[in-house]
Amino acid sequence: MRLILLGPPGAGKGTQAERIVASFGIPQLSTGDLLREAVELSTKTGLHAKEIMQRGDLVPDELVVAVVADRLDQVDVANGFVLDGFPRTLAQAEALDKELYQRSLRLDAVLELKVDESVLVDRVKTRAEQMAARGEPVRSDDTPEVCERRLDVYRAQTRPVIE
Ligand code: ADP
Repeated sequence: MRLILLGPPGAGKGTQAERIVASFGIPQLSTGDLLREAVELSTKTGLHAKEIMQRGDLVPDELVVAVVADRLDQVDVANGFVLDGFPRTLAQAEALDKELYQRSLRLDAVLELKVDESVLVDRVKTRAEQMAARGEPVRSDDTPEVCERRLDVYRAQTRPVIE
């Protein structure tokens, strides 16, 4: 099963991806997680991505596509995957098409999570508060200001991918 999950920040892509992982036994490929890991490890990609992510902007397509292509070559994706947070631009969608074609892979479905936009920023705020209360690390881009920016970016750059 090869799936893509699309949706604005706070829509619950991570939560739904976890359920899909549990039901189908396929890994979740979250570009947000992969990039945060790269930032944590201070890799070349991570160093480039850090400030961009903190602002809520998109990391350049070439970098993200390279991260995904690498991940597609690992053994655990042989039976499928659920992509979460990728593609987020038309160029990424076109690049993904190529990467899949080169590996003779086809997608089974693209799922779009639709949520009333007026609740998204509040949801992200609540998520950050709950994580802090549990003593879990809170994402530095989960502030209301950066979340607004992430939503603007979603509207401008990711929504056209749905069309
Ligand atoms: P959310 O969906 O809540 O915005 P993610 O974890 O998917 O959270 O993404 C966090 C940040 O990582 C984004 O704001 C962006 O800076 C970067 N990022 C993640 N995926 C991509 C992508 N496909 N293209 C460019 N940047 C990305």
